[in-house]
Amino acid sequence: KPIVAIVGRPNVGKSMLFNRIVGSRIAIVEDMPGVTRDRLYQDAEWQGREFTLVDTGGLDFAEDVITSQIRKQAELAMREADAIIFVVDARAGLTTTDEEVAKVLRLTDKPVLLAANKVEQFDLAKIPYYDFYRLGLGDPIPISAAEGLNTGDLLDELVKLLPEQEEDPYPPDTIRIAVIGRPNVGKSSLVNAILGEERVIVSNIPGTTRDAIDSPFERNGKSYVIVDTAGMRRRNRIDLPAERYSVVRALRAIDRCDVALMLLDATEGVTEQDKRIVGYAHEKGKAIILVVNKWDLIEKDDKTMNKFEKKIREELSFLSYAPTLYISALTKQRVPKVLEMVDFVAEQAGRRIPTADLNNLIREATQATPPPGDKHKKLKIFYATQGGVKPPTFILFVNEPELMHFSYERYLENQLRENYGFEGTPIRIFPRKRE
Ligand code: GDP
Repeated sequence: KPIVAIVGRPNVGKSMLFNRIVGSRIAIVEDMPGVTRDRLYQDAEWQGREFTLVDTGGLDFAEDVITSQIRKQAELAMREADAIIFVVDARAGLTTTDEEVAKVLRLTDKPVLLAANKVEQFDLAKIPYYDFYRLGLGDPIPISAAEGLNTGDLLDELVKLLPEQEEDPYPPDTIRIAVIGRPNVGKSSLVNAILGEERVIVSNIPGTTRDAIDSPFERNGKSYVIVDTAGMRRRNRIDLPAERYSVVRALRAIDRCDVALMLLDATEGVTEQDKRIVGYAHEKGKAIILVVNKWDLIEKDDKTMNKFEKKIREELSFLSYAPTLYISALTKQRVPKVLEMVDFVAEQAGRRIPTADLNNLIREATQATPPPGDKHKKLKIFYATQGGVKPPTFILFVNEPELMHFSYERYLENQLRENYGFEGTPIRIFPRKRE
């Protein structure tokens, strides 16, 4: 899915534009404790073209973002996005920060749209067009993110500029693995450790650029690919100082994966950024394994692992289904377990429950704990069917979908897990009105 980055200085209305574009979708995002609320990225769709929108303003957490940081964001966006929306404030006019950003953006060959925001209908004539032309980024598109004015036109332009989607060149049953985590958590070390033991396919499948950044390999006759490994450093290279956590790159890898390996540093625990990234994988319905690396550095007694486990479960409570592995990419302790677990969770994510069994389970579950409702109206589940896999998705045909509670959905999910496992994979349950 192409990535579209919104860049611009603070207060020009980036977040408002972001919300305007993804608006209708935010409402359906599940409201779950532990899933971070402020969104930097969100799927959007216009004229049937899907893309992932990233608000780069949110990538830095400082309140006052200074020019150099905005410039860095622009550079990052250029490197990793497929298209860029550069937002300026038409009311405030051109600022030197805008010029700084434009200077960077002019260097890219990726499409850049210049959006002149805060143009409410009547002062269309008042846009400082001339100034904005000076940025050398083409015609400014006047919009009002607050009122939704002209944002449709902006999106029309945007989808015209998005690159065509590429097909993956791998065999259909290939398991795609994304290795995600902060710099220095050991991603490259783990990838090298895995690839070192398996048969690496040095393939050059023509007609794609993907093979340049993916690492395909085979194990026991099965095919795998670690997606998007180009950014990882070779083991013998010196550490680069202050490498940025490349959020966009991680998101793109997650989009393309079946199983996400979320690497955590045993010496540092779970960070906010870890939560956001793995929260994205969760929302995308990807199978997830929590891999605690650098386990060799921890002084251990017989309670250490339990303590770690408890802490992780607390911090990532929305991932109760994700198994954990405690490894050392350095000493290779338990590294072979990683692929075994990958196989296992990938299989779980692809599991189908026969319809009769599913309906038996739902019937028993609703008998044991009746569905929510009051004396006037009670939720009735007539029939259930599995709508899909990866993640396993269940459709419940009911009398009134609004009567479904989050807690009851949770209960049904737990019943499904108790009976069928589904380790490592999110489960989705959708109530539908029976017509
Ligand atoms: P990346 O930035 O996530 O790809 O991290 P690297 O794989 O480059 O590792 C960062 C540093 O941590 C390197 O100096 C590694 O040698 C070290 N490292 C990685 N895994 C382990 C581990 O399991 N134990 C120890 N002690 N060091 C590790």
